[in-house]
Amino acid sequence: MAGDMLRFVERGQAYPAKRDADARAEDFREIADRYAVQSAEDQAGRCSQCGVPYCSVHCPLHNHIPDWLRLTAEGRLREAYELSNATSTMPEICGRICPQDRLCEGNCVIEFSGHGAVTIGSVEKFITDTAWEEGWVEPLVAGPARGQSVGVIGAGPAGLSAAEYLRGFGYEVHIYDRHDRAGGLLTYGIPGFKLEKPVVMRRVDRLKAGGIVFHEGFAVGEDATLDQLRQRHDALLIATGVYKARAIDVPGGAAQGVVAALDYLTASNRKGFGDDVPAFEDGSLNAEGRHVVVIGGGDTAMDCVRTAVRQGATSVKCLYRRDRANMPGSQREVGHAEEEGVEFVWLSAPHSFQGDAITGVKANRMRLGSPDASGRRAPEVDPGATLDLPADLVIKALGFDAEDLPNLFGAPELGTTRWGTVLVDGKTLMTSLDGVFAAGDIVRGASLVVWAIRDGRDVATSMHKYLKAKAASERQAA
Ligand code: FAD
Ligand code: SF4
Ligand code: SF4
Repeated sequence: MAGDMLRFVERGQAYPAKRDADARAEDFREIADRYAVQSAEDQAGRCSQCGVPYCSVHCPLHNHIPDWLRLTAEGRLREAYELSNATSTMPEICGRICPQDRLCEGNCVIEFSGHGAVTIGSVEKFITDTAWEEGWVEPLVAGPARGQSVGVIGAGPAGLSAAEYLRGFGYEVHIYDRHDRAGGLLTYGIPGFKLEKPVVMRRVDRLKAGGIVFHEGFAVGEDATLDQLRQRHDALLIATGVYKARAIDVPGGAAQGVVAALDYLTASNRKGFGDDVPAFEDGSLNAEGRHVVVIGGGDTAMDCVRTAVRQGATSVKCLYRRDRANMPGSQREVGHAEEEGVEFVWLSAPHSFQGDAITGVKANRMRLGSPDASGRRAPEVDPGATLDLPADLVIKALGFDAEDLPNLFGAPELGTTRWGTVLVDGKTLMTSLDGVFAAGDIVRGASLVVWAIRDGRDVATSMHKYLKAKAASERQAA
C-alpha cells in the first residue's frame, strides 16, 4: 500500500482544470473538467492515510475517505465506489457542491503541513461519475415488503435520502412535492454551472425505478392537510426546506425590478430544462443587457451574480455589508465570480432603491464594529458615507427562514422553535406529533446538502425503529 500512497511531497495538489472564465460565462455547464484516470489515481495517492483522519471527522457523513482514496490510488475504482456509496446516497453531488474548504479538505493534515489538501471532493466526484458510466450503480432494490407505508413531504436531498433508505428497508414510500420536478434546491436553486441537472435527474429516476411513488405538483397545505396524510401513512417525514426569503426594509423596496433570489434562480433553472417561463421571456427575471446589483454575501448571492453573468448582464455588482473575510459564502465561489467579471462592493448596504421601475441603488458605507453573538464583527453605518450604483435589476439574496408550517399544514399542534423551524426530539428526530418526523433545512435552518443527506440517513433509521415497534404492537393487539 505505502508504495502508492503518501506522495504529497513530490506530487503537488492539482484540481481538475477549470474552463477559461470567458468560455464558461457563455453557458451553464459545470466549470471544472473531470480528472483523467491517471490524475485521479495520482491525486488520491497523495493521502497520508492518517490513523485519525480529520477529513472524515469533519465530513458530516463521516465518509471512509482514506479508504476510498487508497482504493482509487490502487486503480480499484469499483471497490472505491462501493465504499463511497456505503455512507452516502449522492457522493457525486457532494463531490461537486460541498464547501470542501470548510469540511473535509479544510481539515486535511496535508493542508496544515503546507502541501495543499488532498483533492477529496474532486476524487469523490470522479469515482461515482465513473461508476454511473460503467454501469456499477445498482438499481434500488426494495427490501421484503413490510405492509407499511411512509409519506415524505419534500423531494430535496433530505427527503430523497430518507426515501431511498426506507424503500431499502421494505416500506411503500410516497414522496409529495409542490414542484413539478423532484430534487428540491438541487433542481431549482443551485445553478447548472455548479451542478448539471442530468446529475440530479438520474438519481431521481433511479428512485422512481426502485418503486418510490412521486406525487409531483402536490402542495401539502393546499392539496392535503398534514392530518389527511397522517391518515394515509404509517409515518410521515417533513423535509420541506426553508423558503421564506428575508426582506430588505428600505425605501423603494417595492420598485419594479427588485426581485427575490430564488424566483430569479428558479426561472433560470427552468429555462435550462427548456420550460416556458413568462417572467423570463418578458425580462422581469432575465439579466440580459441589464445593470445588476445583487444584495447579500452568501452562496445564494454568489449563484445569482454568476447566473447574471451567463445571461449577458451589462454589469454585475455584489453589495455586501461586511468585508471579504467576514462573508458567509465560500471563498472559492467568490474567486470564481471575480474571475467571471463580478465586482464586489464590500462594506456596503442598501439605503434606498430609486425609481418606480428601478434605476439605481443608494448604499450606505459600512464599517465593522465589535463581534456580535455569532462571533463576527457587526457591521454599522459609517455616517455620511454613501455611494450610488446604477441598477435596472436588483436581486435580494439575504437568506431564508422557515415558513409557518403549523399554519400552512393546518396543524397548530406541530411544535416549532423560536426561529420557526420544526422542533424534533434530538434522539428520535420525531416532532411533537406521534409518527411525524422532520429532517433537513426545516429542522436546521438553511444549511448544506451534505447535512440534509446525513439527516435523511439518520431519520430513516429512526423511522424504521418506530415502524417496527408500531407493527409489533399492532400484531400484539390483534
Ligand atoms: P430542499 O432542498 O429545500 O427541498 C425541500 C423540498 O420540499 C422542495 O422540493 C420543496 O418544493 C418541497 N416543499 C416545500 N414545501 C412543501 C409543501 N408544502 N408541500 C410539498 N412540498 C413542499 N448547499 C451546499 O451544500 N452547497 C451549495 O453549493 C449550495 N448552494 C445553494 C444555493 C442556493 C441558491 C440555495 C438556496 C441553497 C444552496 N445550498 C447549498 C443549500 C442546500 O441547497 C440546502 O441546504 C438543501 O437543499 C436542503 O435540503 P432539504 O432537503 O432540507 O430541502
Ligand atoms: Fe467532503 Fe462533502 Fe464528500 Fe464529505 S461528502 S467527503 S465533506 S465532499
Ligand atoms: Fe488523507 Fe488528508 Fe484524510 Fe489524512 S486528513 S486521511 S491525509 S485526506
